[in-house]
Amino acid sequence: MTDTMHKPGILYVISAPSGAGKTTIFRQLLARRPGLCESISFTTRAMRAGERDGIDYHFVSAAEFERMIAEGAFVEWAEVHGNRYGTARATLLQAGREGRDVLLDIDVQGAAQLRASGLEAVFIFVLPPGMAALRQRLSGRNTDSPDVIERRMNNAVSEIREAAGFDYIVVNDELEQAIATVEAIVIAEKARTNRMLEVLPAEFGLKSSR
Ligand code: ADP
Ligand code: 5GP
Repeated sequence: MTDTMHKPGILYVISAPSGAGKTTIFRQLLARRPGLCESISFTTRAMRAGERDGIDYHFVSAAEFERMIAEGAFVEWAEVHGNRYGTARATLLQAGREGRDVLLDIDVQGAAQLRASGLEAVFIFVLPPGMAALRQRLSGRNTDSPDVIERRMNNAVSEIREAAGFDYIVVNDELEQAIATVEAIVIAEKARTNRMLEVLPAEFGLKSSR
């Protein structure tokens, strides 16, 4: 492809109940596909050890987050486990201008908001192989107390019901297989006819159906 053939960027939204393995898959995908970039969310939660402002998240105060909501700065936002998280409209607009493919790691409520807004994106839902495996992963991660795990298990039941509205469902049983499946989705989406019609040389005489 030449420089003049700018492909419009694709937005991939990955969602899952907590503990399904979304972060693990997300990180691997970013490492394996350098063309993908990550949308950096805004959050009110405290910075964890090793995290950096502007890289892991844009860490803001509750008041600042509130101000951004009032200004309509978010395409979606949600309260997740007691903290607020949001995707800034400006981040997506910037990526769109640059024609970049963007990966969004957001919770199920946020993904549902994006779907409802009619935003063009590829929605991927990551499922655990079963509820017992989900509980095991939540406990095995050693980051949450038993009552927090219980709350996440309860939330998972209603979150999983949302999976039917997504474009793809990936069961994260064997990790390598799940990563390969998400990667295959990313590759296949780029070859969709409506996207290719926008970038193929004019000499083919193919017109965009858009
Ligand atoms: P999420 O981001 O969805 O909350 P994580 O990526 O943090 O989930 O994964 C939860 C835990 O499960 C982590 O300890 C991770 O190493 C483990 N895990 C992820 N995928 C698998 C898998 N396919 N098989 C077994 N354990 C997994
Ligand atoms: P963590 O605090 O562990 O980094 O993230 C907690 C949860 O917040 C994860 O499920 C993550 O996907 C979600 N999250 C992160 N950024 C956003 C965002 O911008 N919007 C929404 N709705 N959820 C987000």
